[in-house]
Amino acid sequence: MSDFTPAPASADLGVFGLGVMGANLARNLARHGHSVAVFNRTLARTERLMERYGSEGDFVPASDLKDFVASLRTPRVAIIMVQAGAATEAVIEELSALMEPGDIIVDAGNTLYTDTRRREEALRERGLHFVGMGVSGGEEGALLGPSIMPGGTAESYNRLGPMLESISAHVDGEPCCTHVGPDGAGHFVKLVHNGIEYADMQLIAEAYSLLRYVAGLSVPEIAEVFRSWKDSELDSYLIDITTEVLSRTDPVTGRPFVDVVVDAAGQKGTGVWTTQTALELGVAVPAIAEATFARAVSSAAAARAAVRAADLAPGTSESTLSGQDREAFIDAVKQALYGSKIAAYAQGFDEIATASAQFGWNIDLGAMARIWRGGCIIRARFLDDITRAYNSTGSADNASNADNEDAHLASLLTAPVFASALVQALPAWRQVVAISALTGVPAPAFASSLAYVDQLRADRLPAALIQGQRDFFGSHTYHRVDDPEGIYHTLWAAPERTEEKWN
Ligand code: NAP
Repeated sequence: MSDFTPAPASADLGVFGLGVMGANLARNLARHGHSVAVFNRTLARTERLMERYGSEGDFVPASDLKDFVASLRTPRVAIIMVQAGAATEAVIEELSALMEPGDIIVDAGNTLYTDTRRREEALRERGLHFVGMGVSGGEEGALLGPSIMPGGTAESYNRLGPMLESISAHVDGEPCCTHVGPDGAGHFVKLVHNGIEYADMQLIAEAYSLLRYVAGLSVPEIAEVFRSWKDSELDSYLIDITTEVLSRTDPVTGRPFVDVVVDAAGQKGTGVWTTQTALELGVAVPAIAEATFARAVSSAAAARAAVRAADLAPGTSESTLSGQDREAFIDAVKQALYGSKIAAYAQGFDEIATASAQFGWNIDLGAMARIWRGGCIIRARFLDDITRAYNSTGSADNASNADNEDAHLASLLTAPVFASALVQALPAWRQVVAISALTGVPAPAFASSLAYVDQLRADRLPAALIQGQRDFFGSHTYHRVDDPEGIYHTLWAAPERTEEKWN
């Protein structure tokens, strides 16, 4: 067994946790000329990293945690890359006990932002900086250039930023890393990134399903349709990998790969967190929620088997598209996908804007779209348009504050580039959702995204009726259109049902 005893204050920063992500992040830092202290609970991982990749750069391995901390230059920076939850909590405790005021602990795992806020506050009281940092791009991104979303103090970013920006992905010469905002802002933005990723994947999957089961295309034909969409506003990493997955043939059976995979989608929980958080904040994110529910439905094996056995098919029609109809439908699905994608991203940005205003994070929404252009799973050409749309409108706190005269962009849907895209997409999108309903080929995220847009554009919503119902059974009161500030209640039980003004 090795005994690594590093020289004191010899490393620029350290990485604790050398699993898949931590090892690759440490290698990325070393390859960019940073001297990186490395430590892992189980020494074998540190040894393996040194054996295989020790020559890639200046690694400073340590067998003992005290030596690891002592090897860091002050103010010390230690990046934790271990499982979120109890493991991260335990490591923060161990590390913070050895660190000094002014030092910086970075949690780079997928931690829920509320935990980050709590930990940041506790460590701040002890004089330590705590940075919750979102890292996107998986294993390959960590090694070759991820999108990085650090929160925490501006002071900690002064120390961390140059190192992080050097290892992040770059697009048009700009790093896909920026200081997101205080305390939990970085982990929050990473959370919503993952929620948007769920929605984007579900929408693409629905497009595939409609092309297959309504338009009657073969899997290789659908792969070609997706390939052709690369030359459009839909161009994205997720479209690229969809084309790859659909182009693959199973070597064992000779069937399309997608047909030999069990149709039950897994999840690690960030879709659930994004949806739960949106519910808590009172923000509508139906595309993200629908995508999360769709994974749950796909995995509900017993219910699916029972309902299939019951053969509940009345009212559905078989698809018989051919020739020009089929071509028109393919184009309609493309438009529905783009419209739904705009709606899904608008929802995600709305969630960020709302949290930013609530917690005083002052998040620059355009910068968030900018740092998602490279390195991460939702990287796409489309994000350039989002950056441009927000650039003239300032921070999220302004965007979400309807009373603020600077609130130019209360919804991404109203940015001219997206408003005109929606006007163009809506007729085809409506047809696609209608055909989905008539044929019984489900497209829940297409449908709920359309309903989201229709709700926002409606002159009047049936919410007025709900207010009446609430006032009837619970005296919950209502405002009148001719007195929006006044609080009213109708005496529903009284014979004359008179209205009272309560305030
Ligand atoms: P991993 O390969 O399973 O490695 C887990 C690491 O955590 C190991 O170094 C392990 O040490 C350490 N660990 C676990 N419990 C510990 C404890 N109680 N005390 C000290 N160390 C402990 O995991 P990973 O895929 O690298 O993921 C790490 C984090 O990155 C997670 O929060 C994950 O959500 C996040 N993340 C992952 C991805 C991805 O694509 N994989 C992308 C973004 C973010 P031992 O060797 O001693 O077991």
